[in-house]
Formats: sequence, C-alpha cells, structure tokens
Amino acid sequence: MTQTTVKTLKNYIGGEWVDAKTDKTEKVFNPATGEVIAHVPISTQEDVDYAVQVAAEAFETWQEVAVPKRARILFKYQQLLIDNWDELARLITLENGKNYTEAYGEVQRGIENVEFAAGAPSLMMGEQLPSIATDLESGVYRYPIGVIGGITPFNFPMMVPCWMFPIAVATGNTFVLKPSERTPLLANRLAELFEEAGLPKGVFNIVHGAHDVVNGLLDHKKVAAISFVGSQPVAEYVYKRGTDNLKRVQALAGAKNHSIVLRDANMDNATTQIMNAAFGSAGERCMAASVVAVEESIADEFVELLTQKANEITIGNGLDEGVFLGPVIRDQHKERTLSYIESGEKEGAKLIRDGRVDEAAKQEGYFVGPTIFDHVTSEMKIWQDEIFAPVLSIVRVKDLDAAIKLTNQSRFANGACIFTKDGGSVRQFREKIDAGMLGVNIGVPAPMAFFPFSGWKDSFYGDLHANGKDGLQFFTRKKVITTKWV
Ligand code: NAD
Repeated sequence: MTQTTVKTLKNYIGGEWVDAKTDKTEKVFNPATGEVIAHVPISTQEDVDYAVQVAAEAFETWQEVAVPKRARILFKYQQLLIDNWDELARLITLENGKNYTEAYGEVQRGIENVEFAAGAPSLMMGEQLPSIATDLESGVYRYPIGVIGGITPFNFPMMVPCWMFPIAVATGNTFVLKPSERTPLLANRLAELFEEAGLPKGVFNIVHGAHDVVNGLLDHKKVAAISFVGSQPVAEYVYKRGTDNLKRVQALAGAKNHSIVLRDANMDNATTQIMNAAFGSAGERCMAASVVAVEESIADEFVELLTQKANEITIGNGLDEGVFLGPVIRDQHKERTLSYIESGEKEGAKLIRDGRVDEAAKQEGYFVGPTIFDHVTSEMKIWQDEIFAPVLSIVRVKDLDAAIKLTNQSRFANGACIFTKDGGSVRQFREKIDAGMLGVNIGVPAPMAFFPFSGWKDSFYGDLHANGKDGLQFFTRKKVITTKWV
C-alpha cells in the first residue's frame, strides 16, 4: 500500500511518514463523484517547526554532496516518474478532475522540470576572468541558499511542485512542501518515488495543511526562501509577509488571459485553440483563455463556430474514455461559478451557451458545462475577475489597437494570445501587450521547463520567475573571489 491509498494522509519528514500533531483534518473529494477519497491533516506550526529543523540539518550535508552525484539522483527520479506515468496521471484525475489526457500531459510537464534540474552540473558552473589586472583574477561560484518552503495550488498537483523542488534540491537546497489541501495525494507519491531514487532523508519533506503551515513557513527563521503559486490575494499576502521576514519570495498569482482574434485569423485554428484553452482543465488553468477580444467584422462567424465546437464537448468523469471537460474542484467553487454566470446575465452580457443546463451539471460531481458570454464589456465583473472555471467572455472590438487597450486594462497580466497571419500585427502585439507569456496562433502558451514562467502586474510578485535560468538563480547565491597571484 502506498501513501496515496491511506485514509488519513501523513506528513513526510526526515524520510519518515509521520502523523501531524493535530486531530484536525479536511476531506479530500473526488470532484467527479463527490466521494471522499482521503482526509488531509491540517498540520500545526509545531509540525512545520519539526520539518524545518530536519531540513536545516539535512542541508548541512546535502549542500556538500558533489553536484553530479545530486544530479544522478534526479536522473533516477526521472526514470521512476516515467515508469509510473500512468499511475500518476490517474491520481491527478482522481483528485483534481481534469481528464486523463490532460493529466498525462501534466506528468510530462513535471518530468521535464526534473530533466532540467538534472542539468545542475552545467547550470551551477561559475564564471572566471583570469586577468582583471596584472596578476589578478576573479571568479564567480554558485551555492545553494538553505531550506526552501514551497506552497502550491490545487490545479496542477504535479507540475507546479515540480517547478520548485527538483531544481531547488538539485542545486543543493533542502525543501519543505505544503501542497494544496484540496489535492494532496499526488505529492505523497512524488515523495515516495524520490526516496526510491535514493534521495537522502530530510532533503525533501511534506507538511500538509492550510494557512497555519503557510504562516509557519513564512515566519520561520530557518527558511531562506519561499516559492508560492496560487490566487492573487494569497500571493500578495505571502509576498508581503515573506519579504517582511527578510526572505527571498517568488509569488505567482492569478490571471485573466485575453486572446485577440483578428479578421485574417485562420478561423478553424483560432476557435479550436480557444475552445481548448477556455474549457480544458475546466478553465482551472492560470493560462486559461478567459476573454476573447474579437474584431467586430468577424465576430458573428467566430461566435457561431466556437459555440458549435463547445456543443461537441463531452462532459464527465475525466477517467472515462472521450471525456474532455471534467468537474471544477469543489461544490463551493461550482456555486461561485454559477453566481458569476448570474452576474454576467444581470450586467447585460448575452449568454450564448449556458453550462448550467448541460445534463452533467445536474448530476453528482461538480460539473459546469462550457459557458460563453458575448457582448461583454470591461465594466462587468465577469470581465474583471478571475472566475477559474469554464466560462468565456467575448468582447467585440473595432481593431487591434482596441484589443490591446482592453487587454492592458486588466490588473492581471499572466498570458495573452493573438490569432492572425499578419507579421506586423504580431509585432505590435508583442511590443505593446503587458503580459509575461505570449502566444501566436496558439491557445495556451505555457513555457516549457527551460524558459521562465513569467506573469506581470498582479499576476506575479517578486523578481525572479519560476523555471529556467530564473529558477536556478532564485534557488542559488553567488560568491565572487578575487585572487592576486604573488
Ligand atoms: P489558493 O490561493 O487558494 O491556494 C494556494 C495555496 O495557498 C494553497 O496551498 C493554500 O493552502 C494556500 N492558502 C490559501 N489561502 C490561504 C491563506 N488565507 N493564507 C495562507 N495560505 C493560504 O489557490 P488555488 O485555488 O489552490 O489555485 C488556483 C489559483 O492559483 C488561481 O488563481 C490560479 O490562477 C493560480 N495559479 C497561478 C499560476 C501562475 O503561474 N501564475 C499557476 C497555477 C495556479
């Protein structure tokens, strides 16, 4: 029996599965059925303190381990993740609800992060200048920073933790992960496989729970840095409290991604991409398409084709063959989504497709069908807020200038896409859009592991983004040595 089939999850500290020092637990549901699949402990600051102490002790020896030796463990881990790919994907679908194909793709994204981290020997190499003056030379050396706290959201139980701990650990840090209490199972399996790969005790630890664990990590003197991914208000809070405690913090936050469709776009590609980006993973992606700014002259044709494609979507349990749209994460999230649909109607947007009336939306599980609003304006709440559900807003715009202006009005700036064949429009879009991750004729332009994952404005707080060279720099510090040869 693995840790993912136990009734009440345990924390993973110092290579042992230990009970949290609390009786308080929360139910973990299968969102497709509403069934309780586990209980997650709501750990205390005492649990955090224990984990951080253990991680701090482990850091003393782990940082001394030769980098290629650390990398070898990452190579073994990569192979184990590949060997267990199907099981990991099923677990993601079970606790998160996204369909199996999407879950399978998420596992791939996680593995790619491990592959990037296994390059630690090249990544950590320093730089030298043999003659900065007569008989004088300088060089830069790179070192880990200590114990890292990682706090992750429910929507990518594998990929998001893998943005953090593989590179942190490969570069010589030790790690305490607090997974989302709504999707905590996968993290335990990741720990088991890391142990099997030969990771020494105490290097990677998990403390399950909610805000007490987060605060415990943010306030702990022995935690050097915090990597956070989640909603905007919590990201802002984490960034402020963490930096107030003089820690390095990167906090990736919410989004409201705009897609711009120009009149020369390949309409079939644009509608397919946007349909996938808006309704894939039930709209619960930080790179989901939430708004389409479409040129007026083609808006009717676009809306008709998009609606036709949305009507073809199969809704249901993500483990069933052919299902595209799974449930949202919880009953409360479904209720919140329905209240946004009501607010869109009240504010005068035209409801083109109503996901409340789909058969699946009336059954067990937290289903909402694909929902499309047309004639949305920037005064409406459905345009302003991150709904994080399969609800798409269409705004009709005069031209590209108006589309860019609308996009830049949003407080969020995670991603943005353009659909066009015109190079000049692409250039104007690239230069004028305030967003960190752009796509051209593609719906979800989520960067791969070796590029930074980089929102702007209220979609990100900090300096160095997740992944790629930014990730490496976030988890390391440098020494410069100047030597006179006498
Ligand atoms: P969330 O903010 O509710 O939770 C994220 C983490 O913070 C969880 O581990 C949770 O336990 C903890 N948390 C929640 N409330 C807290 C509080 N008051 N004090 C301290 N800790 C708290 O986010 P979620 O609903 O799990 O995830 C969805 C959100 O994450 C969306 O807004 C989405 O856009 C965002 N997200 C962003 C990115 C990105 O790269 N920018 C990636 C994935 C998800």
